[in-house]
Amino acid sequence: MTRIMVCGMGGTIAMTATPGGGVAPALTTGELTAAVPGLAGLGVDLGLVDVRNEPSSSLRVGDVLALSRTVAGLLADGADGIVVTQGTDSLEECAYLLDLLHDGPQPVVVTGAMRNPALAGADGPANLLAAVTVAASPAARGRGVLVAFADEVHAAARVRKAHSARVSAFESAAGGPAGHLVEGSVHFGGPPPARFVVPRGERVPRVPVVVAALGEDAPVIPADAGGLVVAAFGAGHLPRWWVDPLAAAVSRIPVVLASRTLAGPVLSATYAYPGSERDLLARGLIPAGLLDPWKARILLMAALAAGAGPDQLGPAFAAAGGLDDPGRWPWPAV
Ligand code: ASP
Repeated sequence: MTRIMVCGMGGTIAMTATPGGGVAPALTTGELTAAVPGLAGLGVDLGLVDVRNEPSSSLRVGDVLALSRTVAGLLADGADGIVVTQGTDSLEECAYLLDLLHDGPQPVVVTGAMRNPALAGADGPANLLAAVTVAASPAARGRGVLVAFADEVHAAARVRKAHSARVSAFESAAGGPAGHLVEGSVHFGGPPPARFVVPRGERVPRVPVVVAALGEDAPVIPADAGGLVVAAFGAGHLPRWWVDPLAAAVSRIPVVLASRTLAGPVLSATYAYPGSERDLLARGLIPAGLLDPWKARILLMAALAAGAGPDQLGPAFAAAGGLDDPGRWPWPAV
């Protein structure tokens, strides 16, 4: 029998009403799975691990690293797939960090809910059923970490929460979902894409994201930052008065250029004014490709934790950013 382990991290999917009003995380994975019609009918051997019970806005990078180690241990012990239930607010970042550290073929599927269990039409049970279905599917093997939500399956590297409230909150701006669930089966639109796995490192540096805004002063970069991500205007553009401070930062730490539009790539060869993408890349900023600023931050943290230097960061972003040869990825292929 296929063995799937469900790891609970909290989030709306696990929330119940509090005496003072509103909801907060409370349910165990046992209570979550007991509420899913059809789960027993999948014929899957389910194991349950209550890892944390937090709103995902309070998860720390260290919590996700610990989860990643738990996942790796469960897979080493023979699990065929993993489901992670968690809050949706930071799901896209947690899933991507798990993805960068997951080097096995087994599916790891992250899900959550937008409507809490007390609401009519709560989506947690359907999403959990979908996630277990995907995790148990041979078609999902070799695809790294996936996100199952509202009967869509997204690659962790591309998914993002694109709406604060609607049930179909998740989308993959670059290319759409990787797959869909129909009548209880998962169907992928193409073969498994290239995987990008970073060696596990324990010392993850602080990497702030600074966001360009109309007429705003250049950012003050914290002295303890080990790297920086700039969420620039449009295709990678900044106020001209940001250029010198960022060029100075580049002499100390890696600075990655991403787009605050959250869709489409940073360009490399079009605009030629101070603060344009050509100007910034010539000064040593690293283009994030199709990675949005939050994904770029996760990759930069994982890469720096793995000891990546300038010779590896450019190729890493070129490959994972999706605009260049995946073969430039500086670590072993999985
Ligand atoms: N605030 C919740 C969380 O991220 C939202 C959710 O789970 O949908 O924990």
